[in-house]
Amino acid sequence: MKFQSHKMTVSIDEHSSHLEQFKDFFKQLDDEGITIEKLPRERIEDYQLKAINATLAHVWHHNEYYRSKLDEAGFTEPKIENLEQLASVPLLQKNVIRGDKQKILCIDPKEIGQVHLTSGTSGKPIYTSYTLADQYIYDLLPKYLELFKESDEDVAAIALPYEFALPGLGFQRLYQFAFGTAILSLGKGGYMAPVDKSLELMKEYKATVLATTPSYAALLAEESERFGIKLGEDIRLKKIVLTGEGCSYTFRERLEKWWGCEVSFFYGSTECGVVGVECSEHRGYHVMEGHVKVEVIDPVSEKKLPYGQTGEIIVTTLLREGMPMVRYRTGDIGLLQKSKCACGCTLDVLQLRGRMESMLNLGGVDYSPFLIEHFLMEIPDVSLWYQFKLSKGVLKIEAEPFRTNLTDEQLAAKVRTHMVERLGVDCEVEIKHDIPRTFGKAIRVLHESKPEK
Ligand SMILES: [Zn+2]
Repeated sequence: MKFQSHKMTVSIDEHSSHLEQFKDFFKQLDDEGITIEKLPRERIEDYQLKAINATLAHVWHHNEYYRSKLDEAGFTEPKIENLEQLASVPLLQKNVIRGDKQKILCIDPKEIGQVHLTSGTSGKPIYTSYTLADQYIYDLLPKYLELFKESDEDVAAIALPYEFALPGLGFQRLYQFAFGTAILSLGKGGYMAPVDKSLELMKEYKATVLATTPSYAALLAEESERFGIKLGEDIRLKKIVLTGEGCSYTFRERLEKWWGCEVSFFYGSTECGVVGVECSEHRGYHVMEGHVKVEVIDPVSEKKLPYGQTGEIIVTTLLREGMPMVRYRTGDIGLLQKSKCACGCTLDVLQLRGRMESMLNLGGVDYSPFLIEHFLMEIPDVSLWYQFKLSKGVLKIEAEPFRTNLTDEQLAAKVRTHMVERLGVDCEVEIKHDIPRTFGKAIRVLHESKPEK
């Protein structure tokens, strides 16, 4: 059975790149009728070592900053002997590249095909430059037939930002080029795409896949009721792919019930592109090891952590010429596991715990906001709209009610009792009816020391 159609292959005239060599590797896999997802680990790691060394040589020869950092770390040539040695390559800090579009650029500026920016809620954005070949050739080399079952029978609605950041255009390219699906580029509430029109378009064109954020999936579901569009009847999705914010398994389950379809998590970023995606077993993200090498470090000592230990996620991109990320500190917290997945994928599995700055310290213990959200979402009378506020070490939960007969006071008491039982820490609860909806990133966690915007 063939799912992905790869209807079109792009080529670029007079192009030479350190990545050309990997076309043969992926062609070989095609010929064998296999994808990188099910390769024996030795073959995956052999490919990754070659790709990392090709990237190290590329940055060594084309970027002053990377070269000086490797020099300082004692490298006399841009090469590691095995994957363990990747730990000796210097880490790339976010603040080094924030606001600086040249710092790690590895090509002549005239080679840039596309610029993307991070949303940069605080301070200056991070600029990432891609060549045309990055996005239309190399990014499409690794295929993931197990992780994506989409085909040209599908119609994908992309409700992700198309402005500045990567997600909208990234998903659009992936679905168009790799799977041959028709695309409905909804964006997220832009001038041309109000919510009712977006839902109408999904209905008219019988969308089967929706790629969006958890909060926007909730917003669309909520608004569908207002506009009289019945989910599961007027819009019958097979799958929703969630990205951008991350959420708990219980939040996901509630979206699955509401939309009446499978909901899968996808992890990526504007800086690193694709990083991980869930298979239908839903037990964490399979790392897209054709595209990236993922490590986990202790954020304080910066030492690499073994499988199973939680720390900061480090990403090295494998198929980039414009602006490769080498051991990039993502600021995301998680842990890696060896795959023992029933789906048969041999790709490592990543468990995400959230952003470093979103961790909630209660009674000296750091809690993932996803865990607290999970406890909150266990209460069916609470809606998908809530905020956690941390002030002087005390957690305050503000949440909206959902189809409940309880008064606000009764619900607040119920939430408090449940959370104390689950968390073992007391909290304040306020039931509100005006938690802000957003077309941007939903802000779920507010710390007293940080501005509330
Ligand atoms: Zn799996």
